[in-house]
Amino acid sequence: MFSMRSIMQSFSISTRVMISIASAVGLMLLWMILFSVERQEKTIMAQNERTMTLMVTHVISSLQTIMTAGYANIAHDFVENVRQDRNIIEFRILRVDGQEAFLDNKTIEDVNRRLGREEFFPRDRETVKPLLDPKDPDLLWVSENLRLLPRYVTVNGMHERLVYLAPVMNGEKCFRCHGQEHLLRGLVQITTSLTQAELDIAQTRVQASIMALGALLFMLVLLHLMIRYSLVRPLGNVMAAMETVAGGRLDLTIKAPGRDEISAIAKSFNKMVFELRETYEGLRREQDKLSTIILGALDGIIVTDGRQKVVLVNPSAEQMLGKSSQQIMDEGWENIIDDQEYMRAMLYRRGRNIPDLVVYNSRAIKIHAATLFDEQQREVGSTFMLRDVTEEKLLEDKLRRHAITDALTQVYNRRFLDESLTNEVKRSQRYNHFLGFILFDVDHFKKFNDTYGHDQGDRVLQAIGKAMKEHFRKVDIPCRFGGEEFCVLLPDTSATGTYVVAERFRRRVEQMEVDGLKVTISTGVVTMPACEIDKPEELVKKADEALYEAKHKGRNQVCSAVPLPEVSVVPLEG
Ligand code: GH3
Ligand code: MG
Ligand code: MG
Repeated sequence: MFSMRSIMQSFSISTRVMISIASAVGLMLLWMILFSVERQEKTIMAQNERTMTLMVTHVISSLQTIMTAGYANIAHDFVENVRQDRNIIEFRILRVDGQEAFLDNKTIEDVNRRLGREEFFPRDRETVKPLLDPKDPDLLWVSENLRLLPRYVTVNGMHERLVYLAPVMNGEKCFRCHGQEHLLRGLVQITTSLTQAELDIAQTRVQASIMALGALLFMLVLLHLMIRYSLVRPLGNVMAAMETVAGGRLDLTIKAPGRDEISAIAKSFNKMVFELRETYEGLRREQDKLSTIILGALDGIIVTDGRQKVVLVNPSAEQMLGKSSQQIMDEGWENIIDDQEYMRAMLYRRGRNIPDLVVYNSRAIKIHAATLFDEQQREVGSTFMLRDVTEEKLLEDKLRRHAITDALTQVYNRRFLDESLTNEVKRSQRYNHFLGFILFDVDHFKKFNDTYGHDQGDRVLQAIGKAMKEHFRKVDIPCRFGGEEFCVLLPDTSATGTYVVAERFRRRVEQMEVDGLKVTISTGVVTMPACEIDKPEELVKKADEALYEAKHKGRNQVCSAVPLPEVSVVPLEG
């Protein structure tokens, strides 16, 4: 269903104004026409009544004059002539009892009787025609007041007629025939037509309607022109400007010279466009700043839109990944490091249960992914921040190495030994694996220092450290225990194996020359699980005891804290 409001809203403002004003003015004109037509109708009817009354009065008085003169035939012709008048529809002469006169012999007989002779001959054929009831109020009113009575009668419920009822008076000249008992001789009923008055009224109505319609049309044309020049055109200009601004042109202003509402709208619009331009330019500056930051950032930045399409790749990302921006855009965000599973886990699971570092294009890269949302919490894209941590990683490794390396000898330091000892002893205990431990001490080193100087002593210790790194396996852990004492942890090595390796190393040191000088070492070895121990310190203690034994036995030899039955058959050469 269409409501009045929705129908009105489908029209333009000018049409709406036109409809409203036309309705109001139309109603006003209609009221004015009805009012004036009604007045005119009354005037026409009154005028008609006056004319007809005058005419009827003359007819009655003429008829009475002719009758009293005794010229009945002339009176009859006169009546016939009057009946011919187009304004007169009916002309009847009535007796006071309401019956039409001159149709029966009642009056003739009365007169002949009064005169005593047969003055008038009776009619051959008599008719009795009652026109009004003897008690008709109009008939009684005229009989009583002896005055003319006009009345309007509707015929067949449509046409109106003006009917006159007039008294015919009994005069002196009538007394002879009719006597003087009655004042009234009879009545005349004249029915006049209102056709002319009705035609005049219809004409008046048509003329008034034409005039009103003309006035309405003229007013509408005038109104249309006024609305067009004072409302539609200025509004159209404002609307055209708005559309241009909506299309992206923000350098537009509308002329607003007047002080009317439309000029006020234009001024407000200009102000709004100015504010919009300022904001837009501000945003542009911020965007430029942001672009400069993104393009100049050391971190790689990749951005996708709401449909997960890569829309931005900065130079750092290109450099880090060794791919062009176009290639990254074509391959999509999931293939940034050619590992879709990793990238999905990074974005959708916030990197849970995956390493936070990947090696790609020979670089160590940390990736941070985030989904971007707008104010309504709708997904509008995602960002991927790539940080090249290769250098950091290298430095970290270097620092770590530095922290666990003895500066003079370049083998592991005491701190790393303690850590490793704890871990390896636990591992050996848990899995019942072999663990060998070698502890050696340079013989008479105090004396060496005293003889060749401390620096020369240092160089010897350096040479021992170098020899340790070369001699032992990659999985073994060579450490400086402190001063001129060193130790080695040998995972998965049996007691015999540990002894053999220790003996070979003792010989290597024995044969080693540092600036033409030589030193020897005394070594204590111990192995798990052959030696049952609870704590790592106990392992060291056992090895120290074996070392002490080696010193005691004459130095430059290896002693074991655990029995070695097969030692004698172990080939020591090579
Ligand atoms: P022993 O055969 O019984 O081990 O005799 P020793 O002289 O080696 O015994 P001791 O343990 O008493 O002496 C160790 C010496 O090692 C003392 C110290 O001057 C020397 N020493 C310890 N650390 C360093 C070092 O970093 N550089 C040098 N040059 N000498 C050191
Ligand atoms: Mg010592
Ligand atoms: Mg010593």
